[in-house]
Parts: sequence; C-alpha cells; structure tokens
Amino acid sequence: MSHDVVLAGAGLANGLIALALRKARPDLRVLLLDQASGASDGHTWSCHDTDLQPRWLDLLRPIRRASWPDQEVSFPDHARRMRTGYGSLDGGGLMRAVSEAGAEIRWNGPVSSIDANAATVGDERLAAPCVIDGRGAQPSAHLAVGFQKFVGIEIETESPHGVRRPMIMDATVPQQDGYRFIYLLPFSPTRILIEDTRYSDGGDLDDERLARASHDYARARGWTGQEVRRERGILPIALAHDAAAFWADHAAGAVPVGLRAGFFHPVTGYSLPYAAQIADVVADLARQDRLTTDHLRSALRDFAIFRARQDRFLRLLNRMLFRGCPPDRRYTLLQRFYRMPEGLIERFYAGRLTRVDQLRIVTGKPPIPLSKAIRCLPERPLLQENA
Ligand SMILES: Cc1cc2nc3c(=O)[nH]c(=O)nc-3n(C[C@H](O)[C@H](O)[C@H](O)COP(=O)(O)OP(=O)(O)OC[C@H]3O[C@@H](n4cnc5c(N)ncnc54)[C@H](O)[C@@H]3O)c2cc1C
Repeated sequence: MSHDVVLAGAGLANGLIALALRKARPDLRVLLLDQASGASDGHTWSCHDTDLQPRWLDLLRPIRRASWPDQEVSFPDHARRMRTGYGSLDGGGLMRAVSEAGAEIRWNGPVSSIDANAATVGDERLAAPCVIDGRGAQPSAHLAVGFQKFVGIEIETESPHGVRRPMIMDATVPQQDGYRFIYLLPFSPTRILIEDTRYSDGGDLDDERLARASHDYARARGWTGQEVRRERGILPIALAHDAAAFWADHAAGAVPVGLRAGFFHPVTGYSLPYAAQIADVVADLARQDRLTTDHLRSALRDFAIFRARQDRFLRLLNRMLFRGCPPDRRYTLLQRFYRMPEGLIERFYAGRLTRVDQLRIVTGKPPIPLSKAIRCLPERPLLQENA
C-alpha cells in the first residue's frame, strides 16, 4: 500500500483531518482525492473564534482569508455589537496548508467506488488501512431537516463601503420565504460579501432571485461596483437526528465524515467547528493506536452519539422555529435570542450550551405559544415522516 490514509473529497472536513493527522503523525502518508480541478473558490468557511479550541484557532488563524475582532446583528427592534471575534477560511488557503503539511492532493480524481479498504479513481484502486469518505452531504432517513439557503455575491465597491465588522444577521429586511436576513463579510474596505439567506421549509433555491436581492441590498446601501465572486448553498438544518441508527447503516464501508455524516451545527448548518472536533478524534486515534477504517468508525460513532445527545436542545429550537412559528414571525425568535448574554450566545454557536443556558433560552416570555412548544418536543415523529 502506498498510503496510510485515503480521504475521498478534498473539502473542509477532510482538509482539517489531513492537517491534524500530519501534525500528529508526520510519518503518515495521507492522500486526498477530489473530482474538482482545484480548491473550491465557491466557499468561505467562517466561524466565531469561540467555536474553536484555542489550538485550532492558532492553527487556522495564519491561513484565514480574514479575521475580525468583533461582529454585529440587527433586527427590527434590536441591534447589537458583540466582542466575539470572527474569521473566514477559503478553499485555496486550506488546501495550500494541507499540501504544505505534507499531504498529497490529487485533483481531477473522481472517486467512482469506495469501501473500507480502498477508493477507486478511473481504473486505479488506491488502497490504505484507513479510508475516509468526505464527499459532501447526502440525505439520510435518520436525519430530518429544514434548510438554510443562500446566495452570496462578493463585490468590489467603487468607493469604501464603510462596513467595519461582520454583520452576522441583518434581519431588518422584508421577511420572505421563512426567516430572511442578510449576512455581510467586509474582506477589505472595498470588498464585501453580501449574502441573502432564508431559513425555509423547502430545499429549492432560486439563484437569480437571491442574487438580485443581494444586489438590491447593495444598491440600497449606496454600494456600487463589480460582482467578482458568487457562492450558493442549501444547508441542512437538523430538526431530528438518530445518530445510532445512522451509524448502524454505516457499519461497513469507508468511514463517513463532514456533512455526509451529519456533523454540522444543527441551527446554522455550519460545519467548520465540528470538522475540527472530528479531526481531533482522528488525530488522537492515530497517536494512540493503529489507524484503521474500523478503529476510526468506532471512535467516530461514539463521538457522533455524544454530539447528537449534546445537540438535542438545538434541534428542539429548530423544531420551534420551523414547526412552531409562522414563517414571517421566525425572526422574532432570533431577535429575542440576541438579547441574551454574550457568553450564552458564544456557547450556543460553539455547541456548548449548559443546562442553565437552555433554561434561560426557553423561559420568560414564551417565544411561541406553550401548546405549540409542547407539540415540538418529540423528535421521533419527524424521523418516521422522513423514513
Ligand atoms: C457556499 C457555502 C458556504 C458555506 N459557508 C460556511 C461557513 O461560513 N462556515 C461553516 O462552518 N460552514 C459553511 N458551509 C457549510 C459547510 O461547512 C460546508 O458545506 C462544508 O464545505 C462541508 O464540508 P464537507 O467536508 O462535508 O464537504 P465539502 O467541503 O463540500 O467537500 C466535499 C468534497 O468532495 C468532493 N467530491 C464530491 N464527490 C466526489 C467524488 N465522487 N470523488 C471525488 N471527490 C468528490 C467535492 O468536490 C468537494 O471538494 C458553507 C457551505 C456552502 C455551500
């Protein structure tokens, strides 16, 4: 065998695994295979600094496309600036770091079949003791989802746009197609990403309509300039998840990671922080034991079940948002949430809410009528609907 680990897909999850593995075990020969011709420029992977362990923040900070010391949100009745740092990675930066760390990346390598022992590209079978499948999202009967859909346009403005920090949600825009907000990332004084985002029940995305809406927003803010990049996404928002059943279905074959294995923040659909946690599980195993597909499957299954239990409350919040609240009132839940203490908001995004935090979120003036809240409690019926 010419490699110790073969990773199908050179995206976010596998990129972080490759980085962590080479750091933990520089002797391991790590190969990533991707069908694309090069690193994606269709993504900016962002997260709050507090979503990451300090170690990961140190590792990623030098390769981030941008970092900001603070951020803000804006709602019809409430606006707020928060001192939590924020930052963005892009595909080029991540894949350069992966190569520099000594992993091999093969572009133009569509994986046509994969199992626990090898991935096949064309007529070449690439075998390794550990085979990981990070080829992006795949529907699962054990995960019921709503959708976060967006189209982002990056524009080079003719004069400075004046936005100093990320606008995580500008929900002062008309509410359409569920919860709607604009997300802004000011990469430079004249470069800004404007993303029209909707939390919707359906997974359809009208790219042109949302891109137009982002351009309209830019015009309304007085920004004129050239569109230089576009990104689009339909991200799963977890309403119900049965991790044990998912892993029972994946008891053989390559080990799934990333969105494919349901490793994402249930409310945002973002997966960067979870991908870092998974990369730690892989690297820890490689440090302690022989890294094989089956050893890794068992470690990731345990982690997934722990994570799914930890995230149960976040899925309940989603059910309240999607099932308990009329689409045009969904923003009121977020508006109320953003009045909570900064530490609680940080723990929410990091997936580390305490029991006290959880109580604080659901008590007080109920965000939705109690009768509706009670109907949102059980997860099981949604999984049955989904099966
Ligand atoms: C536009 C966009 C913006 C996002 N922004 C954020 C964000 O800011 N922060 C955040 O945390 N999350 C974000 N997400 C959500 C999520 O984190 C990303 O989708 C993330 O890339 C998922 O990671 P992954 O490794 O599971 O899949 P991907 O990163 O999508 O990687 C999958 C890779 O597999 C390759 N592939 C697929 N099929 C094959 C095949 N047969 N053979 C070989 N290769 C194959 C693909 O080319 C791709 O490179 C965003 C998603 C999108 C779409």
